[in-house]
Amino acid sequence: MTQDKTTHFGYETVAEQEKARRVRDVFDSVAGRYDLMNDLMSAGMHRLWKAFTIARSGVREGSRVLDVAGGTGDLSLAFAKRVGKSGQVWLTDINNAMLAHGRDRLTNKGYMLPVAQCDAERLPFPDDWFDCVTVAFGLRNMTHKDAALREMTRVLRPGGCLMVLEFSQVWKPLAPIYDFYSFQVIPRIGGMVTRDPDSYRYLSESIRVHPDQDTLKGMMEAAGLSRVEYFNMTFGVVALHRGYKL
Ligand code: SAM
Repeated sequence: MTQDKTTHFGYETVAEQEKARRVRDVFDSVAGRYDLMNDLMSAGMHRLWKAFTIARSGVREGSRVLDVAGGTGDLSLAFAKRVGKSGQVWLTDINNAMLAHGRDRLTNKGYMLPVAQCDAERLPFPDDWFDCVTVAFGLRNMTHKDAALREMTRVLRPGGCLMVLEFSQVWKPLAPIYDFYSFQVIPRIGGMVTRDPDSYRYLSESIRVHPDQDTLKGMMEAAGLSRVEYFNMTFGVVALHRGYKL
């Protein structure tokens, strides 16, 4: 009898195919209130974390940028303002509901970007194409993180950079208060705003089982990136990892 390969879904161990389905259910469920929840849960701080990411990206007029797991399009919008008419920003995500919200939101703000529904593990783009690839709060939801990192590296041009913005390991003395906030407060806010506390429980659990700063740095190096470094933000609640393709 063949044994299904398993992976994490938060604290649960599930078959790999099961994870992709359950991640899709989470984002189908929260898509409509996703932006509001981001502001509430982080007290607006996700805007600063994203602004720092943009500032470190080296993206300028004329750059080609790929926003992987771009969701409702915060990074895509900021990049679109930077690259101007001579540049290119692709908003991509595996989830149709998130992408539809992102596309409508960008259109309402006057930006008609190319949009593609695709899995980060199989990107429909040529080798060596983008100056910058970003993935914000998306990597921990992916089933094969190594494959996704290799794929994002493949589509980068030599000299281009991959930026991974993700929840990470918080400074130890703050862990008890952060745990209380994550497991007692966030699911309650999620329950009130989206009527789906389970999705927000998954969010907190998925952060705990995500690789810490140094492990992720090693994974990016193994994917073929060089000069990998990371920047902790808000005591390590979030870290931005950046690496370059040689
Ligand atoms: N980047 C946006 C942001 O920072 O607000 C959205 C982040 S949201 C927490 C995570 C996103 O990852 C969801 O939109 C989800 O659909 C997407 N995602 C999960 N697995 C994916 C995969 N394998 N490939 C592409 N996107 C994926």
